[in-house]
Amino acid sequence: MVFEGRKILIYDTTLRDGEQSPGASMNPDQKLRMAVQLERLGVDIIEAGFPASSEGDLESIQMIAKKIRSVEIAAIARATVKDIDCAWQAIRDAAKPRIHVFFSSSDIHLKHQLKKTRGEALQQVKAAVQHACKYTDNVEFSAMDATRAEQDFLCEMLGAAISSGARTVNIADTVGYAVPGEFGKIIDYLFEKIQGIENVIFSVHCHDDLGLAVANTLVAVEHGVRQVKCTVNGIGERAGNAALEEVVMALHTRKNFFGVVTGIRTEHVYETSRLLTEITGIAVQPNKAVVGANAFAHESGIHQDGLLKEKRTYEIITPRSVGAPETRLVLGKHSGRHAVEARLKKLGYVLTSNELNKVFREFKEHADSLTNVCDDDLEAIVRKEVFHADDAYSLIDLKVFTGSSSGSSVKLKIRVYADVREEISSNPNHFEAVIAAIMKITGKSCRLMEYAGKTAISDNHVRGDTVVRLRYKEQVVAGSSNHPDIIVGFAIACLKALNLIEWIRYDEKNRLMERRNRRLCV
Ligand code: MN
Repeated sequence: MVFEGRKILIYDTTLRDGEQSPGASMNPDQKLRMAVQLERLGVDIIEAGFPASSEGDLESIQMIAKKIRSVEIAAIARATVKDIDCAWQAIRDAAKPRIHVFFSSSDIHLKHQLKKTRGEALQQVKAAVQHACKYTDNVEFSAMDATRAEQDFLCEMLGAAISSGARTVNIADTVGYAVPGEFGKIIDYLFEKIQGIENVIFSVHCHDDLGLAVANTLVAVEHGVRQVKCTVNGIGERAGNAALEEVVMALHTRKNFFGVVTGIRTEHVYETSRLLTEITGIAVQPNKAVVGANAFAHESGIHQDGLLKEKRTYEIITPRSVGAPETRLVLGKHSGRHAVEARLKKLGYVLTSNELNKVFREFKEHADSLTNVCDDDLEAIVRKEVFHADDAYSLIDLKVFTGSSSGSSVKLKIRVYADVREEISSNPNHFEAVIAAIMKITGKSCRLMEYAGKTAISDNHVRGDTVVRLRYKEQVVAGSSNHPDIIVGFAIACLKALNLIEWIRYDEKNRLMERRNRRLCV
């Protein structure tokens, strides 16, 4: 049976609100990879960033706007001429650009933060939306902190945005204050009172401070909104945003209740979650709905018994429907172009056939000397052959001597730009010994904030899974590796994290080397 229903637009803000999570900032290449994956997933709108916040973000959004053709690309802007001009500069090359202007609607924000009267706020919203409409008719206006605003004033502000040309209006529960029953009533009230609301798309943006972001988002759908904002793994400011995978799977699993459809290809949900974890180093908790390691694990005997008899007894979502667990093909010298291309897609790289040829040639050379080529190797090839980017640090060799009575010592050899350097370090713990050796060689004093590593065996193939987060001065950087050996994977992940600090890119035409510091996230 083909299910027809009202379509809910999925507006993904992983690359903007999500990136505002502490330690989740991404460099332009990483943001582009994530955007490619979001396009595969089937989101309707990608909010690619906040261009006025930094040069780096502006550049990232421009790259995304040029590359992603089938999804709307939005850029957020405060309600000022400068921000809006900057937003347009960022997305003007997009196939479907959208300017997203926001302004606070609560008295708490107006009085204490912005020092504006309500009248001044309305004037600024009108002027900003009108200015944005000079560039495109696809303008969205968001009322920030809407759930703590006086409702009649909120109606006035959204009405002003609509009469000034906004095509989508959004209310943000910026501080995660709303509760579902009340939120539904607010939405009913707004639908009833706002002039012209029936001619635009009504949207919500919910935060998870009380653990209610998904619940509030679903209530909003029940009450008639047509667009919802969410992030992969629910990352975002503080406790985060509504998790895309949870909202989507609730709508999908309970479609007879909600009576709506989305454009999401749910079979890509799991790999999208994994890619974000690999890029940011922020893992999801094992019991996380839909994408957690235990989301489809059944422990109790009664449950197992039921499942063996009939899956539906204890499983409302099948692992296959979200693409979990991932089946990974092992890449080796017998692998063909298609296998390499498929793996690159999973890693978020979509290459032209010319680029793929170059990568495949290099891959074959690697595969001849290694039994299997892991994702780290493949990524290094892509960075070199396609992005002409070189890593500041790369692992040449690691030897570890460890034992229960003697402690550990490591001998680490790494490439530092064009040099090769080597250090020996001893410590009761071999991870600490590796970090100490890395610090000696790079001269960077960093602190290990988080480490998660595991190995899994499937089809006789050992696969490692390591993520680390390091603090260096004010920055928190993440790295990951899937090297089958956990301590080697740890060293690679640490070096990858440090590479983000020294991110280097060669300008292909001028062969100029440019070093960029990552944007600091506040
Ligand atoms: Mn937000």
